[in-house]
Amino acid sequence: MIIVCKNTASQEKINALIKELEDKSLQVHCSIGTLSTILGVVGDTSKLDIEALEANEIAEKVQRVSEPYKLANRKFHTEDTIVDVNGTKIGGGFFGVMAGPCSIESEEQIIGCAKSVKAAGANFLRGGAFKPRTSPYAFRGLKERGLELLLLAKKETGLPIVTELMSLEHLDLFNDVDVIQIGARNMQNFEMLAELGHCNKPILLKRGLANTIEEWLMSAEYIMSGGNENVILCERGIRTFETATRNTFDISAAPLIHQLTHLPIIMDPSHATGKSSLIKPLAKSAVVAGANGLMIEVHPNPEKALCDGAQSVTPEAFADIMNDVKTLCHFEHKII
Ligand code: PEP
Ligand code: MN
Repeated sequence: MIIVCKNTASQEKINALIKELEDKSLQVHCSIGTLSTILGVVGDTSKLDIEALEANEIAEKVQRVSEPYKLANRKFHTEDTIVDVNGTKIGGGFFGVMAGPCSIESEEQIIGCAKSVKAAGANFLRGGAFKPRTSPYAFRGLKERGLELLLLAKKETGLPIVTELMSLEHLDLFNDVDVIQIGARNMQNFEMLAELGHCNKPILLKRGLANTIEEWLMSAEYIMSGGNENVILCERGIRTFETATRNTFDISAAPLIHQLTHLPIIMDPSHATGKSSLIKPLAKSAVVAGANGLMIEVHPNPEKALCDGAQSVTPEAFADIMNDVKTLCHFEHKII
């Protein structure tokens, strides 16, 4: 971190600031120029509050030169993290495909869907029981009953299950859930993230609707700093000026995330585009861009889906997508 001091700063105040930083076990290199004094701060600056430093009366400018996230940072952990979900791995050379309906609607729907996505090669079943909906009048999921049906589908197929947690009040209901999804709208629910740091379950952390990669990684850091390092990132599109698609699919997130962090990343073309016709090309692009997996919404009858029908593919279309995905995974040396 670099602190440029105001040219009016007295030596006494500069020394006081240096002492304050050294007391935090940081090293400070001071270079005195004709116009200003610059302090180069080295060590673990991730816990320094940049705004508090900026508020110091002698600070002209404060600039970070290293990322504020430490546990998620690739620099301090060069190996890819492989998240092991009771034997099903994701990350490094392991490719995870999470598929299923946006919301669990009935026993027949979720079990039928689970069987067809498994047959097509998905290795996780995903379905929503608690649904975040923009309108309070929309279908908001079967809630506890939805979780029961999802567990039934897990029993029937053996697929590990992924579902969204919307409130910590429901955490006790998630004991048999394999991966807890934190949706885009809760990406910065910091109380929730901190609490999930103490639970011993993989967390699928979706990128917020309008969040930067750095904010997203800071949210991962919240979970990791509580002791839970099993975080899987999920790019689901970000809001831009474009309205032709539901969101804008940030394909660059896949290779960039690999540079910045050791955590695995999966891509969700369903929520990114809102259009079933775009899922196949974007799913393929995600594999080639280096994603560690995919999330795809599949519904036996998208026209009748109670949630996100327009972006859901049929089981037949999903099987067709999976054929191409498997071929590409083979070329990319990924185990699916
Ligand atoms: C979902 O995964 O069903 C969902 C609501 O997604 P997001 O949080 O990305 O909007
Ligand atoms: Mn959905």
